[in-house]
Amino acid sequence: MVIIRLRTVLIMILSFSTLVFPWSGHSIYTFLVMKHSEVDLDFFVKIRPKDFEEERIYNQEGKLKEYLVEDISGMNGTGLIEYELVSKYGFLNNSSVDGQLPAWQIISLYSSFPDTGIDCLRDVSWIQDTFLGDSQALRHSKIKVRPVEVFEGDQSFLYFAKKSSELLKVGNEYWGLRYLGYALHYLEDLMQSYHTRPGTVWELVRYPFDKNIRILLRNAHTTYDDMMVYLMLYDEDRLESIISNAKPIYFSSYEQLIREAYMYSHSEFFKIHDMIKSSFGDTLYGPAPSMEDFAKLAKQGELDNLINETYKIISTMSSVIKGFVTMQLDTH
Ligand SMILES: [Zn+2]
Repeated sequence: MVIIRLRTVLIMILSFSTLVFPWSGHSIYTFLVMKHSEVDLDFFVKIRPKDFEEERIYNQEGKLKEYLVEDISGMNGTGLIEYELVSKYGFLNNSSVDGQLPAWQIISLYSSFPDTGIDCLRDVSWIQDTFLGDSQALRHSKIKVRPVEVFEGDQSFLYFAKKSSELLKVGNEYWGLRYLGYALHYLEDLMQSYHTRPGTVWELVRYPFDKNIRILLRNAHTTYDDMMVYLMLYDEDRLESIISNAKPIYFSSYEQLIREAYMYSHSEFFKIHDMIKSSFGDTLYGPAPSMEDFAKLAKQGELDNLINETYKIISTMSSVIKGFVTMQLDTH
């Protein structure tokens, strides 16, 4: 009986999870954390082509084949900076000068890279092939409902954290820092609570049969992804001061770090999900709320609780990243 119930929950999660999207604004958020970390990242790093083999498989369709092995800073159309933020933060995508880039730019810019489509894959796991099609959900989330845990977002973090450390150890600074940026992407994704749980059990049970629930859960998730961009556009001073005040937190291993970050994010899910539903109300049943909807609701005070809770998560996430980056660079 228990096994049948667990299997039902698993199928609900999997049928939902084709809809997993990322936090938005990875490069800019990472830049703000790097700017306020205690590590000196102002030195320049010589770019080198990828000259090592690895076991991880990537989607290499179209331009991705080139993107995966070349430096793509300065290129147009890579989507590493959200269009709403280009006017202010376009410098993060500046071209290299004399074949070199500042360390902070490599880490920040490449923290968006895993969303270019490199993880849209088939034939890497039965879960992917049976349920997800070529969605990147498998590698960008780790879903937990009751005791059932599926997906590999934590494994993605561990892979790039370890690879980055190995590369830095052998003096490959460019790829070591670039893979550090990739590792941050997956850590940041797991700190977005909708990457750890898609909805309440009751919503997941109704999900396959109820179109409104499908629209609600999809919009709740994208709305929360957009929250970071909203804060960058409309509340930047407070966002930056929260990031600046976050003290580094240290863990004894990468495994402990990602587990604690993930469990914390998961523990925030119900609070965030309730606040999203009560703040955005009926707008969650149409097209996803726009930045203007965010601004209007914020002006009416409807987003106060949600924003305060989000700042708590951002503060914790910034502390975890500061500790991780300090450890990663201090040991080399
Ligand atoms: Zn992602």
